[in-house]
Amino acid sequence: MLRFAPSPTGDMHIGNLRVAIFNHLLSKQRNEPLIVRIEDTDKERNIEGKDKEILDLLGLFGIEYSHVIYQSENLRYHRSMAIQLLHDKKAFNCFCTPAELDHKRDVAKANKKPFRYDDTCTHLSADQTIDNENPFTVRLRKPDKAVVVDDLVRGQSSFEPMDVDSFIILRAEKFPTYNFACAVDDMLSDISLVVRGEDHASNTPKQIAVRKALGYDKKTEYAHLPIILNESGKKMSKSDEVSSVKWLLEEGYLPSAIANYLILIGNKVPEEIFTMEESMAWFDLGSISRAPARFDIDKLKFINREHLKRMDDKELSRYVGFADEKIGKAAKIYLEEAGSLKELRSKIEPIFAVKVIPEEYKESVDKMREIIGSSEHFDTFDALKSHIMAESGLKGRQFSKPIRLLLTGAEHGPDLDALYPLIQDYLGEIIK
Ligand code: GLU
Repeated sequence: MLRFAPSPTGDMHIGNLRVAIFNHLLSKQRNEPLIVRIEDTDKERNIEGKDKEILDLLGLFGIEYSHVIYQSENLRYHRSMAIQLLHDKKAFNCFCTPAELDHKRDVAKANKKPFRYDDTCTHLSADQTIDNENPFTVRLRKPDKAVVVDDLVRGQSSFEPMDVDSFIILRAEKFPTYNFACAVDDMLSDISLVVRGEDHASNTPKQIAVRKALGYDKKTEYAHLPIILNESGKKMSKSDEVSSVKWLLEEGYLPSAIANYLILIGNKVPEEIFTMEESMAWFDLGSISRAPARFDIDKLKFINREHLKRMDDKELSRYVGFADEKIGKAAKIYLEEAGSLKELRSKIEPIFAVKVIPEEYKESVDKMREIIGSSEHFDTFDALKSHIMAESGLKGRQFSKPIRLLLTGAEHGPDLDALYPLIQDYLGEIIK
């Protein structure tokens, strides 16, 4: 079983989407189900409705999952496992106050040492515990041997017991910490492979230590994906709008192109343009580079254009407001100058909008309107052109500019010989 474990705390980030896509590909390749676990235990940061938004996005990208779990619903398991660990002496109650711990943290910082729990409460006797009426947290006793993590992307690393540390698993309010809840949930769902962002790599030895302490010996595989940098080579933040999947979709990037791009970056691929389905044949975590990938919007636009070129004509026409394959073909002509659906719409809409004609061409355009309105229908632009020229006496720029403005609403654009046959059915509406 694989899992995708988003937190419902903000817009879906492309890094999260990449994790979801990789989980989907691997679940298909391994023929193991994928579950979605909404990590909603941080009540303060949860944003209402984000869970639904994430699930809708997964649907849009064709990411299949067998079911959804809400982490908060596992609270009784988190608590009962903590009790078991206390019972087995693998965990202990810690009465250190936040102020005491903050002070020790400051001292460690001043001495340029990493802060580690100093075992104040590690060996309290039962009497000392029972006599203490103050609030307490529950800490996992740090392991006595190094914890080794085999990462399918990053290779092997070893973490000393002091780096795993005797960390808190239940807070004073008796709610689990992220590492504890995550480790227990992965165990309860019998997860075989965890694929997630590199920012979680330092949590992995803690999570392995929890499961070991609980006596769960099955080996869970891990793969931590390198972060995606923004175009200036810095870690992406919320202010980088390209990091939001919603923003990319609103800008008119197709889900298939975004998925193609996220599988392509930082990876060795046999071809540049592909669907998620096609990539299943060759996708391999072993080919993912350990170095961070850098986001490049121009590359995404190039890929998007290729996906738009391959799209069925009628389907493309729907994206620009029609259900006519000829309009889809017309949109494809505009792909020379447009790379996203938003850009395509900005080319197609003016064809059908009321035209704003510059003063110098108004007279010619009016004349053309009248001629077209009262003449027979012409199938080719050449025939239409000869007819208008003969009837109006217009030629050169006084013909070419006004006719382009009248037919397309723009001063520049694609070859009218190619475009006209595709839009001629709407001529009456276009010249209105
Ligand atoms: N909820 C975490 C996040 O959204 C992911 C944790 C995990 O995959 O283990 O970053």
